[in-house]
Amino acid sequence: MVAPLGDFSRLCIHTMTTKPWSLREAALAYAKAGVPGITVWRQHLEPQGLDESASILQNSGLEMVSLCRGGFFPAATERARQKTIDDNRRTIDEAAAIGAPLVVLVCGAVPGLPLNEARKQILDGIAATLPHAEQAGVRLSIEPLHPMYADSRSAVNTLGQANDMIETLASPWIGATVDVYHLWWDPALEAEIKRAGPSILSFHVSDWRTPTRDMLNDRGLMGEGCIPIRGIRSWVESTGFAGYVEVEIFSNEYWAWDQSNYLAQIKRAFLEYC
Ligand code: ZN
Repeated sequence: MVAPLGDFSRLCIHTMTTKPWSLREAALAYAKAGVPGITVWRQHLEPQGLDESASILQNSGLEMVSLCRGGFFPAATERARQKTIDDNRRTIDEAAAIGAPLVVLVCGAVPGLPLNEARKQILDGIAATLPHAEQAGVRLSIEPLHPMYADSRSAVNTLGQANDMIETLASPWIGATVDVYHLWWDPALEAEIKRAGPSILSFHVSDWRTPTRDMLNDRGLMGEGCIPIRGIRSWVESTGFAGYVEVEIFSNEYWAWDQSNYLAQIKRAFLEYC
């Protein structure tokens, strides 16, 4: 028997990383490439619906790591805020249906809404959603986003803010996601990872390109940028975290590639830089 070329046992890929692939194409390709974990984005469930998606995933043999994404709690009116809570409950139901143990929350922000008010609405929204998560047996994870998204995507921009919320919510069903792309710059990161401890429910990797040509869709492959991925991973694992290293790359450049070639590059970069 040929010895394995590398240890991919902790590798998970987000379906958004290989966005041009359908869920079926991604699941088949990951499994064939020896990638054991998959995180599914909701838009990859839509084309074939929930039942067929669930059977694709079940038959793939891949481990379902999480469903992305819920959140977006802040809104201008009470009615709109209620709508987001309903949508988050539906997202939790979808996660349960496909066997995902975790829903990752991009918490939301509204341009012009003061960030403190947005954070209050986020906390209220999560609190209103948590009982449903517990009932469904699905955990929720607050993913702080880089401050460049504080206008419209998330008013939670540091792990410290997420930790504060987790402490306030005081539930085993809420935790945090450490995404190196969003958090690498924070001088308090090591201390806040330590503080989060067992609340860290997932770990996302990619790299920060210089220059960054697009605020949303120009993430680098691991090793292409300036993020000390291995160092941050070691902090996360020193809390006892033993979950997957999830490759989450939004990239107009890589989405234009042949996705099979790209997948091979992801595996190479994972071994070399994660
Ligand atoms: Zn992420």
